[in-house]
Amino acid sequence: MAHRALTLKYRPQVFADLIGQDHVSSVLARALESGRVAHAFLFTGARGVGKTTSARILAKALNCEKRAAGVHKSADPCNACTSCVEITTGVSLDVVEIDGASNRGIDDVQNLREKVRFAPTRGRYRIVIIDEVHQLSKDAFAALLKTLEEPPAHLVFIFATTDPQKLPDTIRSRTQRFDFARVALRKVADRLLEIQRREAADAEGAQFTLTDGAALLIAHKGEGSMRDSVSALDQVVSAGEPEVNEELVRRVIGIPDHEGFFRLGAAITARDPQATLQELHRAFEKGMDPRDLAEGLADHFRGVLVMKVDPERGGDLLAASHEDLDRLRAQGEPWSENDLLRLLRIAAECLWPMRDSPQPIVHLEAAVLQMATLESAESLATLLERLEALEKRLGGAPAASAGAAPARPAGGASASRPAASAQGPRASASPARPAAPEASASRERWSPPTASLASAPAPASVATTATTVGSLDEAVELDAATESRWKLTITAVNGRKRMLGAFLEESRLVGLAGGALVLAMDDLHRAVVDAAEHRAIVREELANVFGQPLELKCAPLAAGQVPRRPSAADVQPNIDRAIAYFDGEVLERNGRGDRST
Ligand SMILES: [Zn+2]
Repeated sequence: MAHRALTLKYRPQVFADLIGQDHVSSVLARALESGRVAHAFLFTGARGVGKTTSARILAKALNCEKRAAGVHKSADPCNACTSCVEITTGVSLDVVEIDGASNRGIDDVQNLREKVRFAPTRGRYRIVIIDEVHQLSKDAFAALLKTLEEPPAHLVFIFATTDPQKLPDTIRSRTQRFDFARVALRKVADRLLEIQRREAADAEGAQFTLTDGAALLIAHKGEGSMRDSVSALDQVVSAGEPEVNEELVRRVIGIPDHEGFFRLGAAITARDPQATLQELHRAFEKGMDPRDLAEGLADHFRGVLVMKVDPERGGDLLAASHEDLDRLRAQGEPWSENDLLRLLRIAAECLWPMRDSPQPIVHLEAAVLQMATLESAESLATLLERLEALEKRLGGAPAASAGAAPARPAGGASASRPAASAQGPRASASPARPAAPEASASRERWSPPTASLASAPAPASVATTATTVGSLDEAVELDAATESRWKLTITAVNGRKRMLGAFLEESRLVGLAGGALVLAMDDLHRAVVDAAEHRAIVREELANVFGQPLELKCAPLAAGQVPRRPSAADVQPNIDRAIAYFDGEVLERNGRGDRST
């Protein structure tokens, strides 16, 4: 199917065709209509957003014979007179177009000055368009400046650049500047759909249909550049298929299938670990690279989150059809923004350990399972409230928490301010070394129950959190040797319990303190790592690798590292759930260990 390249055919010839640059074209049009035109323009913006195209439209409008004669009234060029046609076809003697990258020397600029000294041959102006002007040499700029300072009345400069910061101030200050914007996804897609309609109406045009989803996908690939997007459409249309749909675009441009991510996302948001694993492996068996899968999954949850945050206009940011936007919105429906953010974080962060891993799929499995079993921040907060109530009923409020209870407005406060409570544990008293009285008085306000539990006379139910580090004030040492030994330890743990290894990997190594290795992790991770059986495994492997017995201490993550940290020693039902998944047949296949007692 031979057809004229769409890129050329649909290159804008009037200001109205400049998509997404209304702020530029309206000001230029007003200047042209009033006849007060600057002597030097600076067009800035990313590649492919229409800078040189606009420069040519401006040049044509300035020299249009019909506009000069008053026959053509608008600011736009007529595109029919001799001057307009000559400029469009690139043979006009009055318009000089040069590339700053290949004409960067002083000689080039001096030649140019010679050329533009004389009055124009046909139109009213001589117009010099310098593309990528920031690439000119210093001497060339100096020569150019002389002309800019005393420009002949017939001379107009139009500079285009992707990098205005690299221009000397003396040049910038003598130009009228226009910043071209990246074009919004939806606007690019609409332009592509319009091109399709115009082609369909043109007897000699390319005959194809274009779905909305395909147009958006192409626009996404074009990253806000109209030129790149139209060129990609050209490429897809050249495949010769009568119907341009998403499937064809994916095949021709090479974008992975997104249905798999919708299924995987659905399983995760339905909190169904079994289905999650099945969907992950279904995609994996199709030959997708685990890293691409992780990236695609993160991208998918970005979409779900964006639609949750802004259901009305979020679609402008995403390359998805109306139908897919609805599906993304529906997937996020039962989830809070915060929990969706946590999902996105897990998906995005699992890429990091995958990079050097010989078995990246294992990390991805652990990540998707963690996502599918993610306890909502709200329900953890509710459990926390119940725990606090229980604690009060037991009357076990010891010195540290005695001050805390009245200072905290009510049980509900911790649910509404979980981020603030995240900084609590650092200040709280450790069992071994109670905090100074004034410190506890001023900070106790944010102290989560973890602190009061740790310093409480320890009822049996909280024994699992006994290794929690209340304060890291004791000297913590971290060096490369410790880091590499810790990695070896994780590898060894992975050999025994992969999921435990994954949980350790997701924790942050703080260092060695006294006879203990300190890890920072959130409560859900701690609930799992701290289980007696798991701690024993870690201790054994630590002793093997480090050659000495080491305790494992779990410190809370610093404030700000987790968006809404569900504080609390995750009360028993939670721990049970985590352990159940942990030993569940999903990965280990050694039967579902019921450790709820
Ligand atoms: Zn004209």
